[in-house]
Amino acid sequence: MYTPSVRDLIEELGRLPGIGPRSAQRIAFYLLRSERTDVYRLADAIRRAKDQATFCEVCFNFSEGPICEICEDPTRDRSVICVVEEPKDVVALERTKEYKGLYHVLQGALNPIEGIGPDRIKVKELLKRLTDATIIEVILCTNPNIEGEATAMYLARQLQDSGITVTRIASGLPVGGDLDYADELTIGRALSGRRLL
Ligand SMILES: [Zn+2]
Repeated sequence: MYTPSVRDLIEELGRLPGIGPRSAQRIAFYLLRSERTDVYRLADAIRRAKDQATFCEVCFNFSEGPICEICEDPTRDRSVICVVEEPKDVVALERTKEYKGLYHVLQGALNPIEGIGPDRIKVKELLKRLTDATIIEVILCTNPNIEGEATAMYLARQLQDSGITVTRIASGLPVGGDLDYADELTIGRALSGRRLL
């Protein structure tokens, strides 16, 4: 039997995505065997990120203020918006150094089986952004899996009469995978080979 504090720790760790009960026990054991300073550093990093990091009011990427660095950057091309699922996808695309436009982070993808409809992700906010006449092109960079494709198709339908050019990143990305699993070269190629929807 675990003591109450260890049990609590395992329970909290087990709530994290992708961490099952066995992993939670393993991480708890690892933390409790680690140096106190190391564990406190982790705890502080979690607290600091939670207190300071928020989401950009415009693109919903991580931000330390109301507007993120990318949205505030005057050198970025404001006529293109790349739509991604999560902040990690922005990181993956930025790594290619090929994209100079803006982003929109949906904070998820459509998943009818799990009851995630358009109202659960940042679709409404995207459509509102696109009423701005400076936007010429929207690149749909959702993941090459069932949810990502469904999301891209849904957005393409929503935008078909908007007068905005809607493109989808080219195939060549590993199907069923996540954008951030692909290397810079593959993502860069997929971006430059994007097709019109
Ligand atoms: Zn932003």
